[in-house]
Amino acid sequence: NMASPALLMRVVASAYSVAEKAATIVRNVMAAGDLGIVEKTGANDLQTKADRLVQMSICASLARKFPKVTIIGEEELPADEVTEELIEDGHCEEILKKTCPAQYTGIKEEELVIWVDPLDGTKEYTEGLLDHVTVLIGIAYGGKAIAGVINQPYYNYEAGADVVLGRTIWGVLGIGAFGFQLTEVPAGKHIIVTTRSHSSTLVNDCISALNPDSVIRVGGAGNKIIQLIEGKASAYVFASPGCKKWDTCAPEAILHAVGGKITDIHGNSFQYNKEVKHMNSAGVLATLRNYDYYASRIPNTVKQSLVP
Ligand code: AMP
Ligand code: MG
Ligand code: MG
Repeated sequence: NMASPALLMRVVASAYSVAEKAATIVRNVMAAGDLGIVEKTGANDLQTKADRLVQMSICASLARKFPKVTIIGEEELPADEVTEELIEDGHCEEILKKTCPAQYTGIKEEELVIWVDPLDGTKEYTEGLLDHVTVLIGIAYGGKAIAGVINQPYYNYEAGADVVLGRTIWGVLGIGAFGFQLTEVPAGKHIIVTTRSHSSTLVNDCISALNPDSVIRVGGAGNKIIQLIEGKASAYVFASPGCKKWDTCAPEAILHAVGGKITDIHGNSFQYNKEVKHMNSAGVLATLRNYDYYASRIPNTVKQSLVP
């Protein structure tokens, strides 16, 4: 078939390369040693030079290729001219070879919304918990997360000098997700993954009510979805506002592409149209399998405390 690939596949293929460039920037800023930390709303809500440069790189690179797509990034930045060295114009050939699902072949640029978290897990990045960090590029159509790229710049960083540092995971609904080995938690094991730097009484009460076998506390929404798809945790439970649409869009697309489910704590699905409120005010509940087991055990008192 000599026809040019569908727009969605071209966007995902470009987002893949743009995310790899982003990962290089994340590693270079850390290696240079000056993180340029700025507090946004407080000490647990940080921005670094890497967050700023990566957002400029991703948004300017994708906007140049796809000028009519809506791109929404986490960071508020001055509308400066982006230097040419931040622009990535490559794409992943392997992604272009995949067949676009029929329901997405007619998508036009103006119908796509791209949600960008240039660096998810900034708090952990500043504390040297480097493999918690991810770069998130989520692609939405009709208000739904349909495709996503998650780059983990420091994947394997403690595994020694002979391994490849970093990896890129990508997925599209109806195609699947790639760049990792899909693994399930052993049957009957209940392992919850949650925040390490944004805990609260409600967050902890909700987890206690689920009576898990163990709890993993790590940074990043992207990182926590990776824990689910690699069989490290059975549920991501976060009974708190704080996560935003750029935290959940790419992870949602990848989780849904492999048959998982993510909602707020009430079971409502997230919307990703460009007008939507950014805050996921009613928290996050995500699983690869057995969503209903966890959803049915969220206490009503917790639900009543989290207004969507
Ligand atoms: P965490 O699991 O704590 O790493 O949070 C996942 C994502 O949601 C990260 O991007 C956090 O910055 C964001 N987040 C969660 N809770 C808060 C909060 N209370 N204030 C600011 N950002 C938050
Ligand atoms: Mg984030
Ligand atoms: Mg971020």
